[in-house]
Amino acid sequence: MKFLSTRGKSIAVNSAEAIAKGLADDGGLFVPETFPNVSADLEKMLDMDYAERACFVLSKYLEEYDYQSLLTACKNAYGKFEDNDAAPVVKIDDKLFILELFHGPTLAFKDIALTLLPYLLRTGCDISGIKEEVLILVATSGDTGKAALEGFKDQPGIKINVFYPSEGVSDMQKMQMCTQEGGNVNVVAVKGNFDDCQTAVKNIFSSKQIEAELKSKGVVLSSANSINFGRLAPQIAYYFSAYLDLVNSGEIKIGEKINFVVPTGNFGNILAGYYAKQMGLPIEKLICASNANNVLTEFFVSGEYNANREFFKTMSPSMDILISSNLERLIFEVSGRDCALTEKRMADLKKTGKYVITDAEKKLIEKSFYADYCDEEDCAGVIAGFFDEYGYVLDPHTAVAIAVEDGYRSYTGDELNTVVLSTASAYKFSQNVLKSITGKAPEDAFKAANMLNQETAAPIPEQIVALKTKERRFNKVIDRTETVSAVMEFIEK
Ligand SMILES: *Cc1c(COP(=O)(O)O)cnc(C)c1O
Repeated sequence: MKFLSTRGKSIAVNSAEAIAKGLADDGGLFVPETFPNVSADLEKMLDMDYAERACFVLSKYLEEYDYQSLLTACKNAYGKFEDNDAAPVVKIDDKLFILELFHGPTLAFKDIALTLLPYLLRTGCDISGIKEEVLILVATSGDTGKAALEGFKDQPGIKINVFYPSEGVSDMQKMQMCTQEGGNVNVVAVKGNFDDCQTAVKNIFSSKQIEAELKSKGVVLSSANSINFGRLAPQIAYYFSAYLDLVNSGEIKIGEKINFVVPTGNFGNILAGYYAKQMGLPIEKLICASNANNVLTEFFVSGEYNANREFFKTMSPSMDILISSNLERLIFEVSGRDCALTEKRMADLKKTGKYVITDAEKKLIEKSFYADYCDEEDCAGVIAGFFDEYGYVLDPHTAVAIAVEDGYRSYTGDELNTVVLSTASAYKFSQNVLKSITGKAPEDAFKAANMLNQETAAPIPEQIVALKTKERRFNKVIDRTETVSAVMEFIEK
């Protein structure tokens, strides 16, 4: 299968090259030429385990990869999850289910793609004949950084550099990254927010001068952010898996439609759901849940994307984003795959911070999506209320999704079965979760974790316990203007 750039000025490449490169030369994102339809295969997928389902879905796109090796890689990746189950579905009430995506090595849904990406990237480079050392640049709002570091640590021929917003991640997230082990890793805090980190990384990617300089040192760039199709593709699989699990447990019949609610930041997770729908998974609505940084809610309601707004730091920091990269792939689709128009809109976004879509495009989006947001007070209320009612401890990102799901149900009267994607362990945000439930919390993240455990009896993940005694290796804080020199310094080490 070929992959095209959303901006149409790069030649089409195969899947191996799309993953090895991460971003197209014209600055666009790689998208599959077509969406393979697998609705006739759903029956067959019922008996598969998670790794087999993932391999099956991935193989539809990654035609250049050998099926058996891909299957082995999926089994290895998903064997790293608690109880060998990467994506368990938990029943909350008659119509509501939670898809728990946080049982991996770093306790966030990013693990589902990033436990597999090293294999996809390594193999992609081999197939494409890339012999240089690969430098992976990551901008993170908290969870991608740690999951990517853990996935790529000590992988031969690969170095990884992570930029995170110095004050924009939780204490646990920061400690997870700054204590990272491995000889090929670098972690740098940037004064600014996630958008600053992401823009810095994108600028490095699109600079021909930096590309040439790196090349002279035998280094090529790639990305572990969800702009890389290799990050996106493994995420498609859990939409299928959740659906199939509901069929297996007798909650739905094959062909019956369901909704998914997705706590959204960079639009990577929910876009994977849209791709699943395009592949024939019976999804009625993809519900896009935002926090106080509700630029996406406004976009879906008004048809105008406007990033010129106040930036809020919230207790769901992995969604504190104003420039949602993967939305480019959605507007590319609803424009009828019009590359020139997509390029113009992205140019407008870069220049003026905004762009508009047509009414027809907006209607098309409304067929598949619903969007709403939840502020900090509601988020805290939902965490407390949900624990009260169901004894279930939500992390703040998932709580945002639950709040939006609740609003959606009462506003539309939609009675379909609904799956809420849970994206992180509550213990990564121990102070805020504890404070939401009890009204107060100590400053220390570990103390708060212990108290949360006493209050709720939810087990503390061993990764959190282990973190306490780990040595801190990375302390560097830089200005936005120093990101290029930080990368060069790391390369030369
Ligand atoms: C990354 C992340 C999100 C947002 O996912 P996107 O793919 O960026 O939309 C939501 N919740 C958590 C916990 C995350 O780590």
